[in-house]
Amino acid sequence: MMILGEVASSGLARGRAVLCDCAGKRTVVPQRRVGKVEAEMEIERFDAAVAAAEVKLLEVQEKVHRTLGKEQAEIFETQIVLMRDVHLHDTVRDLCLEKGMNVEAAVDAAIRQLMKLFGGLDDPYFRERAADLHDVGKRLLDHLVGDVPQATPVPAEGSVIVTSELLASIVAQWEGQGVRAIIVEKGGLTAHATILARSLGIPMLVHVPEATRKIQTDDLLIVDALAGRVFLNPQPELLRRYDRLEANLQMHKSALKDLIGVPTVTRDGVDIKLSANIGQTADAAAAANVKADGVGLYRTEFVFAAQDQFPAEDEQYLFYRATADYLKPGETVIRVLDVGSDKPLNYFPLPHEANPAMGCRGTRLLLAHPQILHTQLRAILRLSASHPVKILLPMIDGLDDLRAAKTAIGRAKAELAAEGQSFNPRIPVGAMIETPSAAILIEQLADEVDFFSVGSNDLVQFLLAADRLGGEMPSAYDPLHPAVIRVLATLATVARSKGKPFSLCGEIASDPAYANLVIGLGFRSLSVSPGRLLDIKHAICSTRLADAEKLAGQVLTLSATRDIRVCVQEDWARRRPVSPAELAT
Ligand code: PEP
Ligand code: MG
Repeated sequence: MMILGEVASSGLARGRAVLCDCAGKRTVVPQRRVGKVEAEMEIERFDAAVAAAEVKLLEVQEKVHRTLGKEQAEIFETQIVLMRDVHLHDTVRDLCLEKGMNVEAAVDAAIRQLMKLFGGLDDPYFRERAADLHDVGKRLLDHLVGDVPQATPVPAEGSVIVTSELLASIVAQWEGQGVRAIIVEKGGLTAHATILARSLGIPMLVHVPEATRKIQTDDLLIVDALAGRVFLNPQPELLRRYDRLEANLQMHKSALKDLIGVPTVTRDGVDIKLSANIGQTADAAAAANVKADGVGLYRTEFVFAAQDQFPAEDEQYLFYRATADYLKPGETVIRVLDVGSDKPLNYFPLPHEANPAMGCRGTRLLLAHPQILHTQLRAILRLSASHPVKILLPMIDGLDDLRAAKTAIGRAKAELAAEGQSFNPRIPVGAMIETPSAAILIEQLADEVDFFSVGSNDLVQFLLAADRLGGEMPSAYDPLHPAVIRVLATLATVARSKGKPFSLCGEIASDPAYANLVIGLGFRSLSVSPGRLLDIKHAICSTRLADAEKLAGQVLTLSATRDIRVCVQEDWARRRPVSPAELAT
């Protein structure tokens, strides 16, 4: 049997399927009937779970108090009060004793009842407590079901993971575990889980409908993450065909190694800067191995996510220094913390929002928590004394955010100067262009920043009002939409006319099939996944700027995404190293 999917991280793999729940959230609350005697025991389990959850909450509260202050820590006070609530206890008791429910089902039902009650009240304070109740319910269930925190599936060497959803924090733990490929029912091409899989070089397919129903654990799978398909328990003839394709790909990969250290120049002599996007120190090592021209985007949130509390200034300094050391003398563009949306920090609870991608995140979030920003800025500034680092501000939506963040940088500098600590007083400060408002205001922003980094992942999502994380329905998210192409062309033109360095760091830059297009649109600096860097270099070194500009010019005349796709695919088909004929077999 063959099933189709969308290529999220390219490559070929084969291995035994392992079905996992990698969504990081519990989907099933156990349900069973209990008699009177057992019901009393269930209530005792409830009391024990409340006590254990309270101890855990007090620990978290203490940490948050230490790192973020009293106000943030109070969120947990509310949760402790709710957990002790008499009404909650009475309802759980009644459901166990009167309705014969097991305690997990009773807690789930009681929390739902209370959330409904709170949600219907006029007082906004109580309405907002519904989110706290949800959290309380989850904590209690975590303790009752006995997996606190939810264990990350540890796959056996050689597994192909099959899951309905996937969290970035789970993929991060698969580094070096020998995972051969990942198949996700939902997922998105620019979701952070996908970005991480790409940087770990794990082939991945997303939007594979009903994968968890059609595939069984232990099925032998061929994952063709070049053509976007999975073969279940393939016949020997097919296995032999894929042996040949894998050998071809291997040859291509070995040939790419010859490009390490070779400058990235088009055949007509145009230099392109090729830096790496990194998240963890291991990515920096990978970037150094392929001799990237520096780090164009250091997503520091992955450093924070690997901790169980906010890293102190000295710890941050050491992390950043270890990374910058790898790429020295190339520069390292350090983006300040961009948490929120699909990059949560489990020790930094954020208010529940209906649309977190458009809520409190990025620079906006940091400005609301000045201490977090201040500590990070001090660490980066201290490093700037010895290393060529730059500060990048995420999710800038206009001049107000930018100016407030620059004031915060000024404050951190003044404090370090007063302490006699050294730093680069002229450390370059740049803005991510990843919101439509920032794109519209690029000319004005140019007067107040030193450089730009265009984040197409979010920019596409907000320009098209299409979720980058994907979902149940086919997504309208498409970087080849004519509106996106026009905006990219305009950004390149305006930034160049204002004399500001600019680069493209969204995933559109990490796809060799798009390299000709983005260069033709005017980008001369790309920051890409380290695992794709040599492929991109190969694509650039084998083209000419004149051809790239011709392609971009042609694309700019088209107004339908489908036509643009055909045009770009035809261009790529002429140049791709593994031919479409081979893929079509
Ligand atoms: C982007 O939005 O394009 C970007 C590079 O930032 P991130 O993917 O981390 O949101
Ligand atoms: Mg972004």
